[in-house]
Amino acid sequence: MKYDIYVDNAATTKMSDEVLSTMLPFFTENYGNAASTHKMGSFTRKSIDNVRNIISEAIGASNPNEIYFTGTGTEADNWAIKGIAFANKNKGNHIITTSIEHHAILHPCEDLEKNYGFEITYLKVKENGIIDIENLKNAIKPTTILISVMFCNNETGAIQPINEIGAIAKQNNVYFHTDAVQALAYIPINVESMGIDLLSLSAHKLYGPKGIGALYVSNNVKIIPILHGGGQERHRRAGTQNVPAIVGFGEAVRLAKETQLNEVERLKKLTKKLIKGITENIPATKINGDETNRMPHIVNITFSFIESEGLLMFLDNRGITASGGSACSSGSFEPSHVLTAMGVSTHESHGSLRISLGRYNTEEDVDIIIKELPTVVSQLRKLSPAYKKYLNENS
Ligand SMILES: *Cc1c(COP(=O)(O)O)cnc(C)c1O
Repeated sequence: MKYDIYVDNAATTKMSDEVLSTMLPFFTENYGNAASTHKMGSFTRKSIDNVRNIISEAIGASNPNEIYFTGTGTEADNWAIKGIAFANKNKGNHIITTSIEHHAILHPCEDLEKNYGFEITYLKVKENGIIDIENLKNAIKPTTILISVMFCNNETGAIQPINEIGAIAKQNNVYFHTDAVQALAYIPINVESMGIDLLSLSAHKLYGPKGIGALYVSNNVKIIPILHGGGQERHRRAGTQNVPAIVGFGEAVRLAKETQLNEVERLKKLTKKLIKGITENIPATKINGDETNRMPHIVNITFSFIESEGLLMFLDNRGITASGGSACSSGSFEPSHVLTAMGVSTHESHGSLRISLGRYNTEEDVDIIIKELPTVVSQLRKLSPAYKKYLNENS
Protein backbone atom coordinates (compact mmCIF):
# COMPACT_ATOMS: atom_id res chain seq x y z
CA MET A 1 0.00 0.00 0.00
CA LYS A 2 1.41 3.38 -1.01
CA TYR A 3 -0.09 6.37 0.76
CA ASP A 4 0.03 10.06 -0.09
CA ILE A 5 0.40 11.68 3.32
CA TYR A 6 2.40 14.88 3.76
CA VAL A 7 3.14 15.59 7.42
CA ASP A 8 6.14 17.92 7.12
CA ASN A 9 4.14 21.15 7.33
CA ALA A 10 6.59 22.81 9.73
CA ALA A 11 9.23 22.61 6.97
CA THR A 12 6.93 24.05 4.34
CA THR A 13 3.31 23.85 3.24
CA LYS A 14 1.50 23.22 -0.01
CA MET A 15 0.40 26.54 -1.47
CA SER A 16 -3.38 26.85 -1.43
CA ASP A 17 -5.36 27.12 -4.68
CA GLU A 18 -6.88 30.42 -3.55
CA VAL A 19 -3.40 31.86 -3.06
CA LEU A 20 -2.27 30.69 -6.48
CA SER A 21 -5.26 32.26 -8.26
CA THR A 22 -4.73 35.54 -6.41
CA MET A 23 -1.12 35.58 -7.61
CA LEU A 24 -1.53 34.64 -11.28
CA PRO A 25 -2.74 38.02 -12.68
CA PHE A 26 0.34 39.64 -11.14
CA PHE A 27 2.55 37.50 -13.39
CA THR A 28 0.54 37.90 -16.57
CA GLU A 29 -1.16 41.33 -16.59
CA ASN A 30 -0.36 43.40 -13.53
CA TYR A 31 3.39 43.21 -13.80
CA GLY A 32 4.20 46.90 -13.38
CA ASN A 33 7.08 47.91 -11.12
CA ALA A 34 5.59 49.10 -7.83
CA ALA A 35 8.09 51.97 -7.74
CA SER A 36 6.94 53.39 -11.09
CA THR A 37 4.63 56.40 -11.34
CA HIS A 38 2.47 55.10 -14.22
CA LYS A 39 -0.94 53.49 -13.75
CA MET A 40 0.42 49.95 -13.75
CA GLY A 41 2.92 50.89 -11.05
CA SER A 42 0.34 52.60 -8.95
CA PHE A 43 -1.93 49.52 -9.18
CA THR A 44 0.78 47.12 -7.96
CA ARG A 45 1.79 49.62 -5.26
CA LYS A 46 -1.81 49.71 -4.03
CA SER A 47 -1.94 45.92 -4.09
CA ILE A 48 1.19 45.74 -1.93
CA ASP A 49 -0.18 48.31 0.50
CA ASN A 50 -3.38 46.29 0.76
CA VAL A 51 -1.28 43.34 1.97
CA ARG A 52 0.52 45.63 4.42
CA ASN A 53 -2.93 46.37 5.85
CA ILE A 54 -3.86 42.69 6.05
CA ILE A 55 -0.63 41.76 7.84
CA SER A 56 -0.54 44.72 10.20
CA GLU A 57 -4.12 43.95 11.22
CA ALA A 58 -3.31 40.25 11.66
CA ILE A 59 -0.54 41.09 14.17
CA GLY A 60 -2.22 44.03 15.88
CA ALA A 61 0.16 46.71 14.60
CA SER A 62 -1.20 50.24 14.65
CA ASN A 63 0.33 51.41 11.39
CA PRO A 64 0.63 49.39 8.13
CA ASN A 65 3.85 51.27 7.30
CA GLU A 66 5.52 49.25 10.07
CA ILE A 67 5.40 46.15 7.80
CA TYR A 68 8.45 45.68 5.52
CA PHE A 69 8.60 42.92 2.89
CA THR A 70 11.76 40.81 2.70
CA GLY A 71 12.98 37.97 0.50
CA THR A 72 12.45 35.25 3.14
CA GLY A 73 11.82 34.70 6.83
CA THR A 74 15.58 34.16 7.07
CA GLU A 75 16.22 37.66 5.73
CA ALA A 76 13.74 39.15 8.20
CA ASP A 77 15.59 37.42 11.07
CA ASN A 78 19.03 38.51 9.83
CA TRP A 79 17.85 42.08 9.37
CA ALA A 80 16.30 42.24 12.85
CA ILE A 81 19.48 40.99 14.53
CA LYS A 82 22.09 42.88 12.51
CA GLY A 83 20.02 45.97 11.79
CA ILE A 84 19.45 46.51 15.51
CA ALA A 85 23.00 45.58 16.48
CA PHE A 86 24.65 48.02 14.07
CA ALA A 87 22.16 50.84 14.68
CA ASN A 88 22.48 50.70 18.47
CA LYS A 89 26.11 49.82 19.05
CA ASN A 90 26.73 53.15 20.75
CA LYS A 91 24.26 52.10 23.42
CA GLY A 92 25.66 48.62 23.98
CA ASN A 93 26.99 45.43 22.41
CA HIS A 94 25.03 42.76 24.27
CA ILE A 95 22.21 40.66 22.78
CA ILE A 96 20.17 37.97 24.52
CA THR A 97 18.70 35.07 22.57
CA THR A 98 18.08 31.37 23.20
CA SER A 99 19.90 28.17 22.29
CA ILE A 100 16.79 26.81 20.50
CA GLU A 101 16.36 29.54 17.88
CA HIS A 102 16.22 28.79 14.17
CA HIS A 103 19.64 29.01 12.49
CA ALA A 104 18.42 32.24 10.82
CA ILE A 105 18.84 33.81 14.28
CA LEU A 106 21.73 31.76 15.69
CA HIS A 107 24.08 32.21 12.73
CA PRO A 108 23.83 36.01 12.42
CA CYS A 109 24.35 36.17 16.21
CA GLU A 110 27.48 34.03 15.88
CA ASP A 111 28.70 36.29 13.08
CA LEU A 112 28.20 39.39 15.26
CA GLU A 113 30.15 37.65 18.02
CA LYS A 114 33.04 36.46 15.86
CA ASN A 115 33.48 39.38 13.50
CA TYR A 116 31.99 42.50 15.08
CA GLY A 117 32.75 42.37 18.80
CA PHE A 118 29.23 41.75 20.06
CA GLU A 119 28.50 39.66 23.13
CA ILE A 120 25.64 37.14 22.87
CA THR A 121 23.92 35.32 25.73
CA TYR A 122 22.22 32.10 24.61
CA LEU A 123 19.57 31.30 27.22
CA LYS A 124 19.17 27.64 28.08
CA VAL A 125 15.73 26.03 28.07
CA LYS A 126 14.11 23.69 30.55
CA GLU A 127 13.40 20.07 29.69
CA ASN A 128 10.05 21.14 28.23
CA GLY A 129 11.78 23.43 25.71
CA ILE A 130 10.73 26.69 27.40
CA ILE A 131 13.06 29.36 28.80
CA ASP A 132 13.25 30.19 32.49
CA ILE A 133 12.08 33.80 32.92
CA GLU A 134 14.42 34.27 35.90
CA ASN A 135 17.40 33.42 33.66
CA LEU A 136 16.27 36.10 31.24
CA LYS A 137 15.98 38.72 34.01
CA ASN A 138 19.44 37.81 35.29
CA ALA A 139 21.01 38.00 31.85
CA ILE A 140 20.08 41.67 31.27
CA LYS A 141 22.99 44.13 31.63
CA PRO A 142 23.37 47.88 31.07
CA THR A 143 24.86 47.05 27.65
CA THR A 144 21.91 44.88 26.51
CA ILE A 145 20.26 46.30 23.38
CA LEU A 146 18.09 43.42 22.15
CA ILE A 147 16.23 40.32 23.32
CA SER A 148 15.34 37.89 20.54
CA VAL A 149 13.22 34.89 21.56
CA MET A 150 11.21 32.85 19.06
CA PHE A 151 7.43 32.75 19.50
CA CYS A 152 7.25 28.99 19.14
CA ASN A 153 9.73 26.36 18.12
CA ASN A 154 9.67 24.72 14.71
CA GLU A 155 10.96 21.34 15.95
CA THR A 156 8.96 20.78 19.14
CA GLY A 157 6.11 23.30 18.89
CA ALA A 158 6.85 24.63 22.42
CA ILE A 159 5.51 28.17 22.90
CA GLN A 160 7.59 30.74 24.82
CA PRO A 161 6.11 33.16 27.43
CA ILE A 162 6.00 36.06 24.98
CA ASN A 163 3.90 38.43 27.13
CA GLU A 164 6.30 38.13 30.06
CA ILE A 165 9.36 38.58 27.86
CA GLY A 166 7.80 41.67 26.28
CA ALA A 167 7.09 43.18 29.71
CA ILE A 168 10.66 42.53 30.90
CA ALA A 169 12.10 44.07 27.73
CA LYS A 170 9.95 47.21 28.24
CA GLN A 171 10.92 47.56 31.92
CA ASN A 172 14.59 47.42 30.94
CA ASN A 173 14.29 49.64 27.88
CA VAL A 174 15.58 46.87 25.59
CA TYR A 175 14.14 46.02 22.15
CA PHE A 176 12.24 42.74 21.85
CA HIS A 177 12.30 40.77 18.59
CA THR A 178 10.43 37.51 18.05
CA ASP A 179 10.59 35.02 15.20
CA ALA A 180 6.88 34.32 14.70
CA VAL A 181 7.25 32.39 11.45
CA GLN A 182 5.61 29.28 12.91
CA ALA A 183 3.14 31.17 15.10
CA LEU A 184 1.15 33.40 12.75
CA ALA A 185 -1.15 30.67 11.40
CA TYR A 186 -2.25 29.35 14.80
CA ILE A 187 -1.75 31.93 17.54
CA PRO A 188 -3.48 35.30 17.88
CA ILE A 189 -0.70 37.91 17.89
CA ASN A 190 -0.89 41.48 19.13
CA VAL A 191 2.48 43.20 18.92
CA GLU A 192 1.31 46.19 20.94
CA SER A 193 -0.17 44.38 23.92
CA MET A 194 2.61 41.76 23.85
CA GLY A 195 5.38 44.38 23.91
CA ILE A 196 6.94 43.19 20.65
CA ASP A 197 9.12 45.73 18.80
CA LEU A 198 10.14 43.55 15.85
CA LEU A 199 8.55 40.37 14.47
CA SER A 200 9.58 38.05 11.60
CA LEU A 201 7.15 36.29 9.26
CA SER A 202 7.31 33.99 6.24
CA ALA A 203 4.53 33.07 3.79
CA HIS A 204 5.43 29.48 2.91
CA LYS A 205 4.75 28.16 6.41
CA LEU A 206 1.09 29.13 6.07
CA TYR A 207 0.11 27.94 2.58
CA GLY A 208 1.62 30.93 0.81
CA PRO A 209 4.48 31.05 -1.71
CA LYS A 210 8.14 30.45 -0.88
CA GLY A 211 10.57 33.35 -1.15
CA ILE A 212 8.60 36.07 0.61
CA GLY A 213 8.86 37.22 4.21
CA ALA A 214 8.15 40.30 6.27
CA LEU A 215 9.59 42.13 9.24
CA TYR A 216 7.39 44.21 11.50
CA VAL A 217 9.42 47.10 12.88
CA SER A 218 7.67 49.38 15.33
CA ASN A 219 8.07 53.04 14.35
CA ASN A 220 9.80 53.64 17.70
CA VAL A 221 12.71 51.34 16.81
CA LYS A 222 16.14 52.46 15.65
CA ILE A 223 17.32 50.07 12.92
CA ILE A 224 19.54 50.31 9.83
CA PRO A 225 19.06 48.50 6.50
CA ILE A 226 21.23 45.53 5.57
CA LEU A 227 20.30 45.60 1.88
CA HIS A 228 21.25 48.83 0.10
CA GLY A 229 20.07 50.00 -3.33
CA GLY A 230 16.78 51.54 -4.46
CA GLY A 231 14.42 53.35 -2.15
CA GLN A 232 11.86 50.56 -1.77
CA GLU A 233 10.15 49.79 1.55
CA ARG A 234 10.60 53.34 2.85
CA HIS A 235 14.34 53.25 2.08
CA ARG A 236 14.84 50.36 4.47
CA ARG A 237 14.90 47.28 2.24
CA ALA A 238 16.18 47.84 -1.29
CA GLY A 239 15.13 45.68 -4.24
CA THR A 240 12.12 45.59 -6.56
CA GLN A 241 9.21 44.11 -4.66
CA ASN A 242 8.12 40.58 -5.54
CA VAL A 243 4.54 41.62 -6.18
CA PRO A 244 2.97 38.21 -7.00
CA ALA A 245 4.51 36.69 -3.86
CA ILE A 246 3.43 39.62 -1.68
CA VAL A 247 -0.14 39.39 -2.99
CA GLY A 248 -0.08 35.62 -2.32
CA PHE A 249 1.27 36.26 1.18
CA GLY A 250 -1.68 38.56 1.88
CA GLU A 251 -4.25 36.02 0.72
CA ALA A 252 -2.49 33.28 2.75
CA VAL A 253 -2.62 35.39 5.92
CA ARG A 254 -6.24 36.36 5.31
CA LEU A 255 -7.25 32.70 4.91
CA ALA A 256 -5.20 31.52 7.88
CA LYS A 257 -6.77 34.11 10.17
CA GLU A 258 -10.27 33.41 8.87
CA THR A 259 -9.93 29.67 9.61
CA GLN A 260 -7.68 29.95 12.69
CA LEU A 261 -10.13 29.05 15.47
CA ASN A 262 -11.55 26.00 13.73
CA GLU A 263 -8.18 24.81 12.49
CA VAL A 264 -6.58 25.01 15.92
CA GLU A 265 -9.39 22.92 17.42
CA ARG A 266 -9.30 20.40 14.58
CA LEU A 267 -5.52 19.99 14.68
CA LYS A 268 -5.46 19.77 18.49
CA LYS A 269 -7.84 16.81 18.29
CA LEU A 270 -5.74 15.15 15.60
CA THR A 271 -2.42 15.58 17.45
CA LYS A 272 -4.03 14.33 20.65
CA LYS A 273 -5.16 11.20 18.85
CA LEU A 274 -1.74 10.83 17.24
CA ILE A 275 0.12 11.13 20.56
CA LYS A 276 -2.24 8.67 22.23
CA GLY A 277 -1.95 6.20 19.38
CA ILE A 278 1.83 6.35 19.37
CA THR A 279 2.54 6.28 23.09
CA GLU A 280 0.00 3.50 23.77
CA ASN A 281 1.22 1.23 20.99
CA ILE A 282 4.98 1.78 20.96
CA PRO A 283 7.05 1.20 24.11
CA ALA A 284 10.14 3.27 25.06
CA THR A 285 8.75 6.42 23.43
CA LYS A 286 8.80 10.01 24.60
CA ILE A 287 7.02 13.15 23.36
CA ASN A 288 9.37 16.17 23.32
CA GLY A 289 8.25 19.69 24.22
CA ASP A 290 5.84 21.17 26.75
CA GLU A 291 2.55 19.30 27.15
CA THR A 292 0.25 22.34 27.29
CA ASN A 293 2.15 25.34 25.92
CA ARG A 294 2.52 23.88 22.47
CA MET A 295 1.48 24.39 18.86
CA PRO A 296 -1.56 22.41 17.76
CA HIS A 297 0.15 20.78 14.77
CA ILE A 298 3.67 19.64 15.75
CA VAL A 299 4.47 16.32 17.42
CA ASN A 300 8.11 15.51 18.14
CA ILE A 301 8.73 11.96 19.34
CA THR A 302 11.84 10.12 20.44
CA PHE A 303 11.87 6.38 19.83
CA SER A 304 14.66 4.79 21.82
CA PHE A 305 16.83 2.17 20.08
CA ILE A 306 16.39 3.35 16.50
CA GLU A 307 17.92 5.82 14.03
CA SER A 308 15.40 8.19 12.52
CA GLU A 309 17.15 7.97 9.10
CA GLY A 310 15.91 4.38 8.78
CA LEU A 311 12.48 5.30 10.09
CA LEU A 312 12.09 8.19 7.66
CA MET A 313 13.16 6.02 4.73
CA PHE A 314 10.66 3.33 5.66
CA LEU A 315 7.88 5.91 5.97
CA ASP A 316 8.91 7.69 2.78
CA ASN A 317 8.76 4.41 0.85
CA ARG A 318 5.20 3.97 2.08
CA GLY A 319 4.30 7.51 0.94
CA ILE A 320 4.36 9.13 4.39
CA THR A 321 6.47 12.31 4.23
CA ALA A 322 7.70 13.34 7.68
CA SER A 323 10.92 14.74 9.09
CA GLY A 324 13.59 13.96 11.65
CA GLY A 325 14.21 16.99 13.84
CA SER A 326 14.31 20.05 11.58
CA ALA A 327 14.58 20.16 7.81
CA CYS A 328 17.73 22.22 7.98
CA SER A 329 19.68 19.72 10.05
CA SER A 330 18.41 16.49 8.50
CA GLY A 331 20.86 15.02 6.07
CA SER A 332 23.62 15.75 8.54
CA PHE A 333 24.68 13.57 11.45
CA GLU A 334 24.60 16.48 13.86
CA PRO A 335 21.96 15.94 16.53
CA SER A 336 19.22 18.59 16.64
CA HIS A 337 20.50 21.65 18.57
CA VAL A 338 16.97 22.10 19.92
CA LEU A 339 16.67 18.62 21.42
CA THR A 340 20.25 18.85 22.74
CA ALA A 341 19.36 22.13 24.52
CA MET A 342 16.42 20.32 26.13
CA GLY A 343 18.75 17.70 27.56
CA VAL A 344 17.96 14.92 25.07
CA SER A 345 21.10 12.80 24.61
CA THR A 346 22.81 12.62 21.20
CA HIS A 347 21.81 9.00 21.03
CA GLU A 348 18.11 9.61 21.72
CA SER A 349 18.10 12.65 19.49
CA HIS A 350 19.06 10.42 16.56
CA GLY A 351 15.85 8.46 17.10
CA SER A 352 13.56 11.48 16.88
CA LEU A 353 10.76 12.06 14.44
CA ARG A 354 8.77 15.23 13.75
CA ILE A 355 5.24 14.91 12.46
CA SER A 356 3.76 18.30 11.59
CA LEU A 357 0.15 18.25 10.49
CA GLY A 358 -1.56 20.88 8.37
CA ARG A 359 -4.66 22.09 6.61
CA TYR A 360 -4.81 19.21 4.15
CA ASN A 361 -4.38 16.36 6.67
CA THR A 362 -7.43 14.34 7.64
CA GLU A 363 -8.27 12.04 10.53
CA GLU A 364 -7.73 9.15 8.14
CA ASP A 365 -4.09 10.27 7.69
CA VAL A 366 -3.63 10.11 11.45
CA ASP A 367 -5.24 6.66 11.62
CA ILE A 368 -2.85 5.38 8.96
CA ILE A 369 0.21 6.80 10.74
CA ILE A 370 -0.90 5.20 14.00
CA LYS A 371 -1.32 1.90 12.17
CA GLU A 372 1.99 2.00 10.27
CA LEU A 373 4.39 3.43 12.86
CA PRO A 374 4.36 0.53 15.35
CA THR A 375 5.20 -1.95 12.57
CA VAL A 376 8.05 0.14 11.21
CA VAL A 377 9.49 0.93 14.62
CA SER A 378 9.42 -2.70 15.75
CA GLN A 379 11.04 -3.86 12.49
CA LEU A 380 13.88 -1.39 13.04
CA ARG A 381 14.21 -2.32 16.70
CA LYS A 382 14.68 -5.97 15.79
CA LEU A 383 18.08 -4.87 14.49
CA SER A 384 19.08 -3.34 17.82
CA PRO A 385 20.97 -5.43 20.43
CA ALA A 386 20.29 -2.69 23.00
CA TYR A 387 16.55 -3.15 22.47
CA LYS A 388 16.83 -6.92 23.09
CA LYS A 389 18.59 -6.18 26.34
CA TYR A 390 15.89 -3.64 27.27
CA LEU A 391 13.14 -6.21 26.57
CA ASN A 392 14.88 -8.84 28.72
CA GLU A 393 15.26 -6.38 31.57
CA ASN A 394 11.64 -5.17 31.35
CA SER A 395 9.79 -8.44 30.82
C1 LIG B 1 11.07 28.39 8.26
C2 LIG B 1 11.53 29.21 9.38
C3 LIG B 1 12.38 30.32 9.19
C4 LIG B 1 12.94 30.67 7.84
O1 LIG B 1 11.99 31.17 6.93
P1 LIG B 1 12.32 31.07 5.36
O2 LIG B 1 11.25 31.88 4.71
O3 LIG B 1 12.25 29.61 5.01
O4 LIG B 1 13.67 31.64 5.15
C5 LIG B 1 12.75 31.06 10.28
N1 LIG B 1 12.31 30.75 11.52
C6 LIG B 1 11.49 29.72 11.75
C7 LIG B 1 11.03 29.43 13.13
C8 LIG B 1 11.08 28.91 10.69
O5 LIG B 1 10.29 27.87 10.93
